[in-house]
Amino acid sequence: MKAAVYKQPNEMAVIDVPRPVAGRGEVVLKVHACGICGSDLHAVQYGFGMPPGSVMGHEFCGEIVELGPEVGGYAIGDRVTSLPYIGCNTCELCAVGNGMHCENIRGLGLGQLPGAYAEYVMCGAKSLFKLPDNVDSRLGALIEPLSVGLHGVNRSGLGPGAACVVMGGGPIGLATLLWCKAKGAATVIVSELAPGRSELARRLGATEVVNPAIKDPGERIREMTGRGPDLVFECIGVKATLESAISMVATLGRVVVLGVCMEPDEITPVRCIFKEITVSFVLGYNDAEFQETIDALSQGKIDPRPMVTDVIGVEQVPEMFAALRKPSGQAKVIVEFPH
Ligand SMILES: [Zn+2]
Ligand SMILES: [Zn+2]
Repeated sequence: MKAAVYKQPNEMAVIDVPRPVAGRGEVVLKVHACGICGSDLHAVQYGFGMPPGSVMGHEFCGEIVELGPEVGGYAIGDRVTSLPYIGCNTCELCAVGNGMHCENIRGLGLGQLPGAYAEYVMCGAKSLFKLPDNVDSRLGALIEPLSVGLHGVNRSGLGPGAACVVMGGGPIGLATLLWCKAKGAATVIVSELAPGRSELARRLGATEVVNPAIKDPGERIREMTGRGPDLVFECIGVKATLESAISMVATLGRVVVLGVCMEPDEITPVRCIFKEITVSFVLGYNDAEFQETIDALSQGKIDPRPMVTDVIGVEQVPEMFAALRKPSGQAKVIVEFPH
């Protein structure tokens, strides 16, 4: 089968690889769609020890074409999405649907197990979620990144009427914006420099989009509501953005960090102390949040469709990865397979 694989830093390739088979507790999906993620771009840029030839892609959906032994509750032809990992399914964390923190987790698409930039992918049956008929394949490929935003918003304790700032209008920032609105925030200001992403944030329901080079988004919220932001979601993950979040959040407010900064970064603790703020770092999602995202899509509570700016075939993955290295108008790029 055809698959897009990591070749070496800054280089992807499309090659022929053997089709996976389903072992005990596993299924094989015919992949319908798989999203390109910022962490894929990072991984290809730096390698991170990924073996050459690794099939990438971890935001996907498809249809079951093979059931391994001891798989219950699923049939050939079921449309499903999958968590991008297989947990041990025996530890306490797996038992409560929190396999993201399982010590024996095996991830799909980032070097451990093969991912879904391929015609077929092997998944653990315990990692699967059925897709309702009205959640199409492109939406199915957005469930994973949307769940990341949902987890951040759930961890923020957001209540009705909240005033929020979302720093960064990339896919995770946009997902966070959608959930802030869906969960009753009164004001959501998105802070973003790029014009294309700013426009997208407006289409997805931002109260206002502020260019942080021109105006402090916290200041803008104070003008609009008479108080600082109750919640600031950091969805950029570069040096100094955490300190900006800390300085703009209101007294007794909360900063939620979704952006993945890879370097040491300074903050000034006394600012946190005087305002008595909470700073939460969040990772991924739990099983219940994956299901909540599917239900919200099916019921039309969130509509992330404008996030999809490009749909490509697997042959175009290497050139798209090269294009995504430079700032561009893309938000979510989806790799689609004929089905
Ligand atoms: Zn991802
Ligand atoms: Zn486990």
